[in-house]
Amino acid sequence: MNLKKDVCVIGGGVMGLATAYYLLKAGKTVAILEKAEIGSGASSSCDDMILLQSKKPGIALTLAMESLEMYRGLPDELDTDIGFLSLGGMVIIEDEKQLKIMEDFVKQQISYGLDVEIVGRKTLFKKQPHVAPYMKASTYSSADSQVNPLMLMRAFLHNGLKMGMEVFRYTPVKELNQKGDHWEVKGENDLSVECDSVVIAAGAWSAQIGKLIGIDIPIKPIKGQIAVTEQIAPIGETNCWTAAYIASKHDPSIMPDRSEYDKEIGLGFAFSRASEGNYLIGSTRENAGFDKTTNFKAISRMLEQTRKYFPIMNEVNIIRTMAGFRPGTKDGSPIIGPVDGFPGLFIAAGHEGDGIALSPITGKSVSEMVRGVGNHKRFDELNLRRFS
Ligand SMILES: Cc1cc2nc3c(=O)[nH]c(=O)nc-3n(C[C@H](O)[C@H](O)[C@H](O)COP(=O)(O)OP(=O)(O)OC[C@H]3O[C@@H](n4cnc5c(N)ncnc54)[C@H](O)[C@@H]3O)c2cc1C
Repeated sequence: MNLKKDVCVIGGGVMGLATAYYLLKAGKTVAILEKAEIGSGASSSCDDMILLQSKKPGIALTLAMESLEMYRGLPDELDTDIGFLSLGGMVIIEDEKQLKIMEDFVKQQISYGLDVEIVGRKTLFKKQPHVAPYMKASTYSSADSQVNPLMLMRAFLHNGLKMGMEVFRYTPVKELNQKGDHWEVKGENDLSVECDSVVIAAGAWSAQIGKLIGIDIPIKPIKGQIAVTEQIAPIGETNCWTAAYIASKHDPSIMPDRSEYDKEIGLGFAFSRASEGNYLIGSTRENAGFDKTTNFKAISRMLEQTRKYFPIMNEVNIIRTMAGFRPGTKDGSPIIGPVDGFPGLFIAAGHEGDGIALSPITGKSVSEMVRGVGNHKRFDELNLRRFS
């Protein structure tokens, strides 16, 4: 089949769907080519957090705050429930050393405009009556929110289909050819799409797409394992992390006493109650290639840690486990923007553990870049060229 579209999006995860949605909304014609099922990559094997407190002060935090504002309007705009909840979040602090580091981190975040504070034990135990009594303090931000990634993707998909988007499932992209001022994207099943622009949104697989035209897109999979509990009533007012989670993302020195095994699996702690009442317990950060298996040892360690922080979790059953591939870059920031030397080619990938939070702002910004509208100078620091 031969098609003509304004834009071809490679990858049907949250990033591809969001980008396609904002392009369609602006009047562009769009096809998405997805190698498997829509949403079958990281975007359906992840936590559900629009977590601002974990973002590095700088462009990551600024974009996350803008994305959160967009999220507040999305249920109405998409005319459906996307499981958006804004219950706030707490990063639990175990000792003086963590407290010192978190105080500095919080100060920087406040200077970027985030509403966050350090709270003492009284507020911590009021908001988290089941947290282990030895905890020292906590951070609290009312901004931390969550969304159901599956409902979000379905909403982008359905709205996109209504606007004429064409979606090709089980159609891995095999060839990417630059033909003068336009592009030819060839997928399996003899599909060929001629288009003005191409957006690479293939998550952890984006490097493979780059190879098709000889460019190095330094994104690799960072595996994360998650355990899901049965549905239970809330055990606290907010979702929680520990300073260990921030440590595993930004600064391993916060947790110098971790065991070799915890370091090897990049053990962090994220604890959120999904809109249906199941708790999501995560997660690991592993360099394990594209091995998607969950393993008993890592899951056991995650649960042991959860029961230490929240002893009440000894009484709660785990109903499933899952693993996904965060699209990771060397500096932990996404790759967003045009590719030098390849007019019409754009990347929206490499969001690591922040892709759900950042999908609306990324999709909208990339849509504008493709259409040549707006000033996107601030995205220079996220351009692929920073790695060359
Ligand atoms: C354990 C875990 C917890 C997480 N928790 C959070 C969280 O709380 N908050 C948050 O913001 N983020 C979180 N993330 C990160 C988030 O899931 C990702 O950043 C986001 O889903 C990436 O979306 P994506 O669309 O770029 O990639 P993906 O969802 O992986 O989509 C890429 C798509 O491209 C397709 N593809 C690959 N190759 C080809 C090809 N050749 N042709 C066509 N299609 C192709 C794939 O099949 C896939 O569907 C978490 C991730 C994990 C693993």
